[in-house]
Amino acid sequence: MRYIQAKQILSKDLNINIYRGCTHGCIYCDSRSSCYQIDDFENVMVKENALDLLGQELAKKRSKGIITSGSMSDPYVHIEKDLQYTRKMLEIILEYGFGINILTKSALILRDLDLYRKINAKNRAIVNLTITTFDDKLCSILEPHVSKTSERFEVLKTFSQAGITTGIWLGPILPFINDTPENIGRIVDAAHEAGVSYILVFDFGLTLRTGNREYFYAQLDRHFPGLKYDYQRLYGNQFEVPSLNRTKLWEVFLERCQKYGIITDFQTIWDLRKSRPQIQEQLSLF
Ligand code: SF4
Repeated sequence: MRYIQAKQILSKDLNINIYRGCTHGCIYCDSRSSCYQIDDFENVMVKENALDLLGQELAKKRSKGIITSGSMSDPYVHIEKDLQYTRKMLEIILEYGFGINILTKSALILRDLDLYRKINAKNRAIVNLTITTFDDKLCSILEPHVSKTSERFEVLKTFSQAGITTGIWLGPILPFINDTPENIGRIVDAAHEAGVSYILVFDFGLTLRTGNREYFYAQLDRHFPGLKYDYQRLYGNQFEVPSLNRTKLWEVFLERCQKYGIITDFQTIWDLRKSRPQIQEQLSLF
């Protein structure tokens, strides 16, 4: 772990990343791409002055929007357990009356349930978990150092039962690895059982670029010998790496979500951020 100083902590659209780098080890991680210039990726950088900056920046805002966290690094990386910067971030967000929309893969988020409840009572809390595979064994290969899929569904269930809106970021879906209709169908079934309001899918595939491609291929060599050559033959150096099964996967996904009333439409998901919790409950009835 190393400390750095930030000049500003919130982006224009209220996005915050307290940490840079990550210790969860996902084999497909886009944040490893060279364009982000994060050297020694697993030696996480902590923005030491993040909490002071957050208080100062929120004090100047006129409207109480929703803060988003989890786009570049997981807010619940391992050091968060002791450091508690994310927890303190939530305390500040609560103090200033803002909302939170957070994305993680870690069950450590359960520690902060009390704060999410309080934020939700005042403004809006939305908890998102990334899910890529229904299979815990495969999960331990794809995302080796973070909570397994079954634990993530327990997290979703706990938050849903606490009256907090929950969502799933489904993906990435890796060609020849987790791109089966069975995987997608079982994830949606479990989402329904966990009381999830929406599932966000950008497409059924992944993205690869310099930095994350090399890491991903090295992990394929380790866990799926020979598969790298299929990727190279089919996709070359493409940024977008779609599953060959994507049409079928969309079909299964949309049909199953419709059956359960799980929201998949981007605009409706986006609008949830602006709505009060009781309005969301009405939407989930559609
Ligand atoms: S949790 Fe997110 S940031 Fe961390 S390694 Fe996995 S994909 Fe990358």
